[in-house]
Amino acid sequence: MLVVKKFGGTSVADKERIMNVAARCIKDYREGNDVVVVLSAMGKQTDVLIDMAKDINPMPSKRELDMLLTTGEQISVALMAMAMGGMGVPAISLNAFQVAMHTTSSYGNARLKRIDIDRIRHELDQRKIVIITGFQGINKYTDYTTLGRGGSDTTAVALAAALHADSCEIYTDVDGVYTADPRIVKKARKLKEITYEEMLDLATLGAGVLHNRSVELAKKYGVRLIVRSSLTEAEGTIVKEDTKVERMIVSGVAADKNVTRISLIGLKNVPGIAFKVFDVLAKANINVDMILQSIGRHDTKDITFTIPEDSRDEALSVLEAKKEQLGYEDISENSDVAKVSIVGAGMMSNPGVAAKMFEALYNCDININMISTSEIRVTVLIDEKEVDKAMNAIHDMFGLED
Ligand code: ADP
Ligand code: ASP
Ligand code: MG
Repeated sequence: MLVVKKFGGTSVADKERIMNVAARCIKDYREGNDVVVVLSAMGKQTDVLIDMAKDINPMPSKRELDMLLTTGEQISVALMAMAMGGMGVPAISLNAFQVAMHTTSSYGNARLKRIDIDRIRHELDQRKIVIITGFQGINKYTDYTTLGRGGSDTTAVALAAALHADSCEIYTDVDGVYTADPRIVKKARKLKEITYEEMLDLATLGAGVLHNRSVELAKKYGVRLIVRSSLTEAEGTIVKEDTKVERMIVSGVAADKNVTRISLIGLKNVPGIAFKVFDVLAKANINVDMILQSIGRHDTKDITFTIPEDSRDEALSVLEAKKEQLGYEDISENSDVAKVSIVGAGMMSNPGVAAKMFEALYNCDININMISTSEIRVTVLIDEKEVDKAMNAIHDMFGLED
């Protein structure tokens, strides 16, 4: 068997945890398996590095930021190989360059294009445990790139697909995928199984337990994913194509605090304005999510939209630079907002789901700023301070607990 085992930051946060992970991997190895390990940076190292960068320059070059951030993963893989070596097992660490893992060129948000597997195969054939840096790649200029926050999950799934691994195990600090973030909703229930589709929606809407592109890739290549704890032996959650469990109307609640709302006020009420505004943002590679346009009054209208909070500075700077061309009177911005969403394939055939969610929010006096829906999800934008209360109220309203 060939297994890919990925361990997140908290699972390798200190010496003791590194030793624990090394021992777990060695157990698989001694059972005769080929073991490929993917690691994140230790603890909150990536955040520490970002803070260091921003302290030097509030808007650092994306290339240099990736150059810095990739060091985090390089530390953890080298220490892990040393730990395993100390336990008498041959292990080798490899970074994205050594593998090589080819990505698109966009720094900070690159996509994996191709993974060379020869080196990995060669090391496995020598009966070594191969430990690979998560989150990073190299682009056509042989520069380091990163896959976006939480991207190590995607590295693991892509490797599992490329190596035709028998399983891809994502070890984290909770023991599986829950109906909501178990740190926020105490009554959240662990799911035995979840479909790729539902997991993809939850991940995209803020359930940080899996990077959304890892789920996309797992679905595309049929990689069976297991999410479980690195600290306990609890069973975990299997992410796969179909589940035996009967579909619930709502499968989970997710929240995303990485949101900024921007309003452009007093735009001309003429054709082409929305195009111009969103074209400026698209050209800066900024993802726009919810959009609300006011009904024009007299000769002006307002457009409000949300973007990821980490694109805030760039969005404001490109919009302000184009103030004259876009012709708005005022711009306002609020980052103390968050999205809360419900997801579930069963929603399609059940009217009244959105109303029930709004009722839960009304019952605890939470004001809704914006709403967006699709066939299988409802998202509201609310005050960031109210997120925990909202998630618990919605979770209760739909009876998602045991
Ligand atoms: P890692 O460093 O191992 O990648 P992450 O912090 O990225 O760990 O992801 C694990 C965290 O995801 C958990 O600690 C939990 O708070 C959060 N989380 C959010 N939504 C969910 C959910 N639906 N089920 C489980 N965990 C969730
Ligand atoms: N270290 C990176 C991050 O913190 C990648 C990861 O943990 O998946 O975002
Ligand atoms: Mg993660």
